[in-house]
Amino acid sequence: MTANLSNLAAIDAAHHMHPFNKMTELNEKGARLIARGEGVYIFDGAGKKYLDAFAGLWCVNVGYGRTEITEAVSRQMQELPYYNTFFGTTTESATLLAQKVTEHAGQNINRVFFTNSGSEATDTWFRLARVYWKAQGKAEKVQVIARRNGYHGSTVAGASLGGMKLMHEQGNLPIEGIHHIGQPYWFAEGGDLSPEEFGLKMARELEAKIDELGEDKVAAFVAEPVQGAGGVIVPPSTYWPEIARICKARNILLIVDEVICGFGRLGQWFGHQHFGVEPDMAPIAKGLSSGYLPIGGVLISDRVADVLAQEEIHHGYTYSGHPVAASAALANLAILENEGLVDRVRDDIGPYFAKAWKSLEDHEVVGEAQVVGLMGGLQLSPDKATRRRYAKPDDAGVLVRNHCLENGLVMRATSDRMLASPPLVISHAQVDEMIEKLRGGLDHLREMRMG
Ligand SMILES: *Cc1c(COP(=O)(O)O)cnc(C)c1O
Repeated sequence: MTANLSNLAAIDAAHHMHPFNKMTELNEKGARLIARGEGVYIFDGAGKKYLDAFAGLWCVNVGYGRTEITEAVSRQMQELPYYNTFFGTTTESATLLAQKVTEHAGQNINRVFFTNSGSEATDTWFRLARVYWKAQGKAEKVQVIARRNGYHGSTVAGASLGGMKLMHEQGNLPIEGIHHIGQPYWFAEGGDLSPEEFGLKMARELEAKIDELGEDKVAAFVAEPVQGAGGVIVPPSTYWPEIARICKARNILLIVDEVICGFGRLGQWFGHQHFGVEPDMAPIAKGLSSGYLPIGGVLISDRVADVLAQEEIHHGYTYSGHPVAASAALANLAILENEGLVDRVRDDIGPYFAKAWKSLEDHEVVGEAQVVGLMGGLQLSPDKATRRRYAKPDDAGVLVRNHCLENGLVMRATSDRMLASPPLVISHAQVDEMIEKLRGGLDHLREMRMG
């Protein structure tokens, strides 16, 4: 790299429009340049080291600097950098990846449709769900139900299905045919109910919504196993079984968004396996390639695939099953398998992380510490006895996040929740380092005496 740091910041400010940012504010500080990564650590342009407790953006499951992946990519690039999968053609890596991904997905899921991202995967199942019903003479079954504070990507269908108000306000969303029900966020919305009662209540909002719209008008319901961007909100144990029961009873497709929870994050290959439910379709991305190259897809159950197989599908992307991205994903999945990383999350580092994360509940400003596998959500609260929220929840989260960043720990804050999702290769000592630095951030929040 030739440009020096201040140069790059100026160039970036002048020419680079960033996602999810206000450019005038960003340009005042200048974008932080990340220059290098190794294991669970990243290094900025000045050489400062950070523990990346967020795995990039929920995706670098095998950690940084894995030469198995870069070498596989380089080989594929030299052999065949690109070919499409449209006109009755395929490539070896796309085909083998389809086999490998579905091998881990349970016996009723044997097909995958490739995309380049989670958002495209969302748009894909959204269309396929409607094709599925129409092919069976049920062209009226087009409505889709999703959840407030869910996240399913940033394309038009993705942002519409997501339950983020600020996203809906930009671009006249949601598009027609999309409805939202409540989220199983007990700490904030559970009132006097026990978490279990509240989980049932939230699941039954789905039943009520289906009945309101009419069962023969509803195509599908979509949810993340654990809401990610919404704040790592772990649903009460009663929630998922009831959701699965309702989808079955009302004959609508259950779409489980595995973009974060897939590929070991929850200690199983897929998040739905952790919660014991079976999706009809499941979008995947992120951990599929550990972010080394962009690739996503939709897992498709036999029930759906058998119907779709009879249809000419007018849907696809130039880079669906891109051979180089597929080779990165194959090498990534080989690492997950060879190093037993999924089992490691379930049996070793997951329980270790859970204990450390839960220990934060003794801190004065922590209302609740939720954790599954290597995914943690930490609710900040000025008064945990009454589950009170901060008057300015965003400020509380940002305060802790920035303090951590100063001290070499990358975490994310969603409003007043701190989010962790470290690479699956994180060591016990590195978990300790992370918790210690996070505690520093929590101490800082306490000292600021925000109400
Ligand atoms: C990130 C994410 C998406 C969107 O994936 P992109 O690759 O950013 O398009 C969809 N669903 C969930 C649950 C996600 O976390």
